[in-house]
Amino acid sequence: MKTYDYLIVGSGLFGSIFAYEANKRGKKCLVIDKRNHIGGNIYTEEIEGIQVHKYGAHIFHTSNKLVWDYIQQFVEFNRYTNSPIAKYKDEVYNMPFNMNTFHKMWGVITPQEAKEKIQKQIQEAQIDQPKNLEEQAISMVGKDIYEKLIKGYTGKQWGKPCTELPTFIIKRLPVRFTYDNNYFNDLYQGIPIGGYTQIIEKMLDGIDVRLNCDFFDNREELENIANKIVFTGMIDQYYNYCFGELEYRSLRFETELLNTDNYQGNAVVNYNEYEIPYTRIIEHKHFEYGTQPQTVITREYPTTWEKGDEPYYPMNDEKNNMLYQKYQELAHKEDKVIFGGRLGMYKYFDMHHIIAEALKCVEENL
Ligand code: FAD
Ligand code: UDP
Repeated sequence: MKTYDYLIVGSGLFGSIFAYEANKRGKKCLVIDKRNHIGGNIYTEEIEGIQVHKYGAHIFHTSNKLVWDYIQQFVEFNRYTNSPIAKYKDEVYNMPFNMNTFHKMWGVITPQEAKEKIQKQIQEAQIDQPKNLEEQAISMVGKDIYEKLIKGYTGKQWGKPCTELPTFIIKRLPVRFTYDNNYFNDLYQGIPIGGYTQIIEKMLDGIDVRLNCDFFDNREELENIANKIVFTGMIDQYYNYCFGELEYRSLRFETELLNTDNYQGNAVVNYNEYEIPYTRIIEHKHFEYGTQPQTVITREYPTTWEKGDEPYYPMNDEKNNMLYQKYQELAHKEDKVIFGGRLGMYKYFDMHHIIAEALKCVEENL
């Protein structure tokens, strides 16, 4: 007889949903996390009355009604709509690429004028079928926007020139011929009033949780503690990197409390020139329309990932996806271990994808 039905490695959104649903069905669960807090990357921490997104800005958005209804049982959302500002030298532009951006860049006023300008730049660049991110970007918004708002930011973010990056990364950004600065196309969007951590607290209420506990430091004990394991850590590490190491991109966050009530006038300001080492500054209070006398800002510096660093972004290029497939084949043969989440499935999932994946996993396994 094992002590638990499920050992859940990782108290992020995936692991916590699985634990909540399993617990609801009478299964006994142990959740472990190597960090000193629950919540994974959606963790928020209160500083001077402001909810600080400890691991980068997290804006919830989805078009999936089921997912939207599911998350709202744990928290109420505000009406926040993400509309970042992009700064290039001393110019500022609206994001995502829309009529406000085109007007600022070229002085055009009508959608027709903007389309003609972009079309002309595509023709000059002689791009038929985009083969890399640079060509894809130019074919979406033309060369001027590529040069000022994409080339530097993307080079910093991924540590590679745009000519060596896959096209899909830039395809997720909307290009709109309306004066609409909403960064997402989804039907539902917002920020949980009072932060994300309370969501995870509610999910894990009444469930055994062990923090500061790395699965790999206690592998022997933990593998025998439960009938099944839900693993949301790095899949390559689980298999001792037997086929080689997957690549990730990491980040460094620099957070400051400032004695001013409004530092930049927007929650997200991107810094798009290559020469500035951070990609964006987040001013957390603006996610919740905060009126506190002080403010908290975070600069986000992309960094090269090395073993032991936080693996924030899987590098989903062809080489890494092929390597992941080999691990996935091993995973399919397991009957005791289920791999889930961003690191277990090696895919850059947003929160709404994670909820959908976790509920699918619950349906298949519980
Ligand atoms: P995680 O949150 O990474 O949780 C995994 C947990 O497992 C972690 O707590 C980790 O400590 C633990 N763990 C790992 N290995 C071990 C081990 N060996 N032993 C014990 N514990 C272990 N999504 C959006 O929808 N909107 C956004 O605006 C958005 N912005 C983002 C910004 C940044 C900078 C990042 C990095 C992500 C962003 N995301 C956003 C994505 C979002 O963070 C993820 O979809 C979600 O957090 C993934 O949940 P998860 O449970 O799979 O992983
Ligand atoms: N991007 C850019 N300029 C910007 C914002 C984004 O070039 O001002 C590019 C960048 O390559 C980024 C991609 O668009 O990785 C996708 O943007 P998103 O906001 O989805 O970034 P992520 O979620 O990867 O941080």
